Amino acid sequence: MSKPKTVVCICQLLIGLTIHMGCNMGNTNASDNTTPSSYFSERKRMVEYQIRARGIDDKKVVDAFLRVERHRFVPDRYIPHAYEDRPLPIGEGQTISQPYIVAYMTHVLSLSRSDKVLEIGTGSGYQAAILGELCDHVFTVEVIPSLGRKAEGLLNELGYENVKVKIGDGYEGWEEYAPYDAVIVTCAPTHVPEPLKKQLKEGGRMIIPVGEAYDQTLVLLRRIGDRLKEERRLPVRFVPMVNETGKTY
Ligand code: SAH
Repeated sequence: MSKPKTVVCICQLLIGLTIHMGCNMGNTNASDNTTPSSYFSERKRMVEYQIRARGIDDKKVVDAFLRVERHRFVPDRYIPHAYEDRPLPIGEGQTISQPYIVAYMTHVLSLSRSDKVLEIGTGSGYQAAILGELCDHVFTVEVIPSLGRKAEGLLNELGYENVKVKIGDGYEGWEEYAPYDAVIVTCAPTHVPEPLKKQLKEGGRMIIPVGEAYDQTLVLLRRIGDRLKEERRLPVRFVPMVNETGKTY
């Protein structure tokens, strides 16, 4: 065996072993499965053991989770933990959600390519990138300017031209581009905001955590004419929805 081949083998072995290590092997083309891309085996494991093992098997959703490099969306010191089964801090007291919760919320919205989606709570931009892989038009609102701008910069750098970021209070939705086929809320108000209900299209779906601080239920809503059909789904723990002065809703 020639020397270069040995090096490749050792590299592949290292990729397999370094689940929790910050080992970037240099190739960043995540959609090319023929070469070892950055953390690709960690992403595969995340999808297998955290997402598919818990019953989410939708190929389009699974492929989006394989493509989006979650480690790009966390602060440097958390990169070695980016593919673990838990939320992580992203600064300003906020968190990027556990991968399974991101997958669950994405899956229950039954998204189509042509759908127009509104996200409230951009945070790191990870959920927005997943939505950007699946839908033509994504609009996301973040109340903390520094987080919103950072996410916007990263989403631009990664080429998500179909994702628009706005700094503002997402309680009000984003009227300009309404109505939406789907609304996903990743911070928790104590009630479903009236403007978000109004901005949902006929047949549109909304997934939203509702409840008091750290004791909420994920609720799935569907607009049928003037009514909203409501299904309570999972107990969850999201950061509270707040206005621009930090007051909770
Ligand atoms: N979806 C994010 C995680 C969001 S954490 C991701 O993939 O990383 C929840 C986010 O909601 C925080 O960034 C918080 O600042 C934001 N948030 C809280 N209240 C908000 C409001 N009224 N409007 C918009 N964003 C809000």
